[in-house]
Amino acid sequence: MTDIATLLSQDFHAIWHPYTRFSTLREHQLPVLCRGEGMHLYTPDGRAFVDAISSWWCCALGHSHPAIVRAIQSQAGQLQHSILGNLTHPQAIRLAHRLAHLLPTRDRHTLFASDGSSAIEQAVKIAVQYRHNTGETQRRKIACLTSAYHGDTLGSMSLGYVEAFHRPFRELLFSAVRLPFPQCPCRMTRDIAPGHSEPDPACTASCFAEAEAILEEVAEELTAVVVEPMVQGAAGMRMHGAGWLSSLATWCRNHDVLLILDEIATGFGRTGELFAFHHAAGVDPDILCLGKALTAGSLPLSATVVKDFIYRTFADLDEDHTLQHGHTFCGNPIAAAAANAALDVYLAPEFLTGVRELAGLLRTGLEPCREIPGVRDVRCLGLVGAVELEPHHGRPADSRAHQIRRHLQDQGILLRPIGDVLYLMPPLIIDQTTLDWLIREFIQAISTVAR
Ligand SMILES: *Cc1c(COP(=O)(O)O)cnc(C)c1O
Repeated sequence: MTDIATLLSQDFHAIWHPYTRFSTLREHQLPVLCRGEGMHLYTPDGRAFVDAISSWWCCALGHSHPAIVRAIQSQAGQLQHSILGNLTHPQAIRLAHRLAHLLPTRDRHTLFASDGSSAIEQAVKIAVQYRHNTGETQRRKIACLTSAYHGDTLGSMSLGYVEAFHRPFRELLFSAVRLPFPQCPCRMTRDIAPGHSEPDPACTASCFAEAEAILEEVAEELTAVVVEPMVQGAAGMRMHGAGWLSSLATWCRNHDVLLILDEIATGFGRTGELFAFHHAAGVDPDILCLGKALTAGSLPLSATVVKDFIYRTFADLDEDHTLQHGHTFCGNPIAAAAANAALDVYLAPEFLTGVRELAGLLRTGLEPCREIPGVRDVRCLGLVGAVELEPHHGRPADSRAHQIRRHLQDQGILLRPIGDVLYLMPPLIIDQTTLDWLIREFIQAISTVAR
């Protein structure tokens, strides 16, 4: 194999690293990773790193999970690719069937794509064309939460706003109705009860009142509301109470507005429930977007899972309402096989119980962070644990966070802060010993640098 220095020199000249500052590429040598197993990623010379953010939140079952590797190998020997336009194949059929059966209303159709942003784009186009199909052409608007993140394509960006990502593109984005992020004090104290949680009595209608007032103003013009349920990922792991989501779902139902849930980051056990919306009572998304952990991060695949009453309006009888949208690799057989194998693991009887136990350890483990000077907030849900630092005068907002990142990298831990927020989002199959160690090192690094 080419030696590391040559590789890195070729990297510097040929690769465009996403979300990576030019200056860091010049000043710091990037770890080159060539192998992953379980919790760990390895460099060619055998250095090991714990993957504390599940490689951008998707490798929920760690790396090289044997069942997933087997599924990929077996499918690769039979059929690597085929399209779903006027053709079909067993892996996609099985996956779509299983996904539909995970939801309260099972009568659903799945449109696959290759990444999360495209799953959102599809959901938006479906929500808009649905009103065209039904003749409700006054309903074109979409509501979303401020500081949401739904992807990096222009349509999905229009539904989010992360200042640094979006500023240059403002004029190209369509306008959406912005709802304030719920300031639920209740989410601080809430623990995950096993099984479907009761509605949180502390998260009452008052948490939803502000959003409701805005929604009422535009109710007649809305086709859909899209939110990341329970946890806003890229906004810095911001969390709200379950009651807020229940109230939103009820409002949507009562006003004939579609509820689109973006579970691309939260789906498949991350929050301690199979889907984050299970924390809230009475939620049944009209459209559910999945990605990331769908294949346990092994291959690119995403899904837009749509209720039948919407799908049926896309018929071509009388007038042609066919959805003219599809991505080349949608429902790729190898990726679908990987997703089917991942689902077998997620749906195994004790899987979520294990995640909840680990979640309890993470929550108690991060508690001491509240006492560290310079820490503003600590929030946990499932295996998402975030520590927000106080804004610091006179220094770039995220410089301390990056100092902590580099410190932890030297200890063999890979993570990536978001602005002032440091978070752990380890694979769901992490063992307790590694999790304990991870939390200890994390707190140590924060207390050394934060103050
Ligand atoms: C990552 C993410 C997306 C975008 O998915 P990509 O696969 O990166 O396009 C959308 N929504 C949420 C909540 C995400 O976390």
